[in-house]
Amino acid sequence: MDEKKTELFYQPKNGYDRIDTAERLALEEYCRGYMAYLDAARTEREAVTEAVKLAEAAGFASLESLEGPIRPGQKVYLNNRGKSLLLAVGGKKPMKDGFVVTAAHIDSPRLDLKQLPLFEDAELGYFRTHYYGGIKKYQWTAIPLEIHGVVALKDGSTVEVVIGRDPADPQFVVTDLLPHLAADQMQKTLAKGVEGEKLCILAGSVPYAGEGAERVKLAVMSLLNDRYGITEEDLISAELEAVPAFDVRQLGLDRSMIGGYGQDDRVCAYAELAAILEQTEPERTAVCILADKEEIGSVGVSGMRGQVFERFIEALCGGSCGVQESFSASFCVSADVTAAFDPMYPEVSERQNAARLNYGVGLCKFTGSRGKSGASDASAELVAYMRRICAEAGVLWQMCELGKVDQGGGGTVAGFMADRDIDTIDAGVPVLSMHAPFETTSKLDCYMTYKCMKAAYEAK
Ligand SMILES: [Zn+2]
Repeated sequence: MDEKKTELFYQPKNGYDRIDTAERLALEEYCRGYMAYLDAARTEREAVTEAVKLAEAAGFASLESLEGPIRPGQKVYLNNRGKSLLLAVGGKKPMKDGFVVTAAHIDSPRLDLKQLPLFEDAELGYFRTHYYGGIKKYQWTAIPLEIHGVVALKDGSTVEVVIGRDPADPQFVVTDLLPHLAADQMQKTLAKGVEGEKLCILAGSVPYAGEGAERVKLAVMSLLNDRYGITEEDLISAELEAVPAFDVRQLGLDRSMIGGYGQDDRVCAYAELAAILEQTEPERTAVCILADKEEIGSVGVSGMRGQVFERFIEALCGGSCGVQESFSASFCVSADVTAAFDPMYPEVSERQNAARLNYGVGLCKFTGSRGKSGASDASAELVAYMRRICAEAGVLWQMCELGKVDQGGGGTVAGFMADRDIDTIDAGVPVLSMHAPFETTSKLDCYMTYKCMKAAYEAK
């Protein structure tokens, strides 16, 4: 009977029972690179900057260097306003035969400083924030924060701000109520226990010398002025993001997992990037997208709904064919994270179809919520195609969906790629504590996601 079961049943196995020593060493090596990238890329802008550095070192040149259609083996990138990045390696086949694109996002949930952030209360200085993306607000209190971003000045120049990354720098915090006085707060729901307007960042406590009101606010502003030469009005045209100050670390006694902020979705962004940087002359042109604004609906000029993708593909086609013709023959892996089954919260998942840590890259036929709403729902043929290329390239994968049918759900950029008439499927790393300030992934799954992206690019 066991033989019959082996023959007929789909029986997934733990990835560690399926890889050899060489592959184990390879995954450790890969994850060292990923962890270094994640540590350096705390915002979407930094994710672009770090990716451009890696791309240039691998021989990629700015898109302006492209004349006519992209040539086989030619490597170009387009840095879109410093906030999203598109890369390509020319394939043997012309653009009219389509391209292989992998699309991840590099924006992550965080606390954005408001445009007029600074105030003083009870002789303490604060920055007001407006959170970005889906967060559980209580998770962002009483943890160390750093502030990263830019202040754009009227003269057209930009001041880069990073406070808290350097060990010599101060860091920041949003305070929370002590349990002794939290009787009322503890009765509230998790959603209401910490209100959005209370996510204010403690910025200073020493008053400016002299008499008068708002002396702490003045002292904080004065320190910002000393360090960056800016005034309060300049903050109006700033993008300052408070992000968790945690270092990226290995987790577990066996060091099999990675803990860090912003793994959704920089873990897939790095997987794509590592895969495209290795391409020399793929069959079809390889395209890699690190998009912004996914967490707020893929909107704006740097989001996946924006037209920069069309502009990039048009440049790659170089008049040899139409963008739409190229789209229709193309294939997209929407590389975004999925929820890993958490034994502490089994009630939200349907075990049989949930992603598990160490079972490899998670393929999702559909995402969305309550009746697949918002999903692009890849075709059966496309899922079969993924099964084939993963099998051929030795990629460990698992089929998964995000949680129980009625429990909720989520989206990715897949729908926006499919809207363009590109066959699209979701694939990515299963994550524990997704969208938390410190997210957990498994090294094996990170590595298999990279192998999956590579397999997509290298498929014949
Ligand atoms: Zn995501």
